[in-house]
Amino acid sequence: KLASREFKKSDTIFNVGPVTVGGNRVTVIAGPCAVESKEQIIESAYAVKKAGAVMLRGGAFKPRTSPYSFQGLQEKGCQYLKEASELTGLPVVTEIVAPGDADMMKDYVDVFQIGARNMQNFELLKTVGRIGKPVVLKRGMSATIEEWLMAAEYLMSEGNDNIILCERGIRTYENFTRNTLDISAVPIIQQLSHLPVIVDPSHATGLRDKVSPMALAAIAAGANGLVVEVHPDPDKALSDGPQSLYPEQFEKLMCDIKELAPVM
Ligand code: PEP
Ligand code: MN
Repeated sequence: KLASREFKKSDTIFNVGPVTVGGNRVTVIAGPCAVESKEQIIESAYAVKKAGAVMLRGGAFKPRTSPYSFQGLQEKGCQYLKEASELTGLPVVTEIVAPGDADMMKDYVDVFQIGARNMQNFELLKTVGRIGKPVVLKRGMSATIEEWLMAAEYLMSEGNDNIILCERGIRTYENFTRNTLDISAVPIIQQLSHLPVIVDPSHATGLRDKVSPMALAAIAAGANGLVVEVHPDPDKALSDGPQSLYPEQFEKLMCDIKELAPVM
């Protein structure tokens, strides 16, 4: 298998613009759950950059549990991301939810995210694999590590080698947290695969004050990076406000991360 350690012994390391992903440095991607307005995403970009993040995240297409919840700004959101990227120099990561959006999105984004809900949307995986841009592939909320690696295989079998696996918590019987962060997935992936693996402590916990401890645990376990939700005004966020860090909290987290590992 293309994603396996047997196929390729050395860690996969690649560049997204000025950013290196993989290897011994920690790559931190941060930003709001959703792009809500031009001002909001630009403010977020400057805030996360100041704290030391090297890529900006923000959803333009939001796969929400309820169809009545905010669905994202769609193409406008992608345009705002591009503007925020041009102003700050941060490459942008955003989720794609439908194969038909790929052509429109590829001119605006640097990295495609495949969300947990679409990890086994095989037509989407094939389309995004063919585009060839780097991909953050989230673990499905009920996916085994093997299924997750097979999803990466779909991308790689289309010729795309630049895949970042993202552990974002799995469904368990525990309801105190939104999901249960499977920290052991980090060393297991690193044993089974040469691909970089990062952790999303925001969706894993759903709780703002649990995000930093889990982020640090992920780094201690050897994760190649993090995706953290940060919002300039979390109390007014249109999605995932309760798990979004205040910019000051994120600054503190970045300082704590630098004590543990070299940051990109
Ligand atoms: C997100 O990153 O905002 C998101 C929807 O994540 P996940 O697919 O992991 O739930
Ligand atoms: Mn979110």
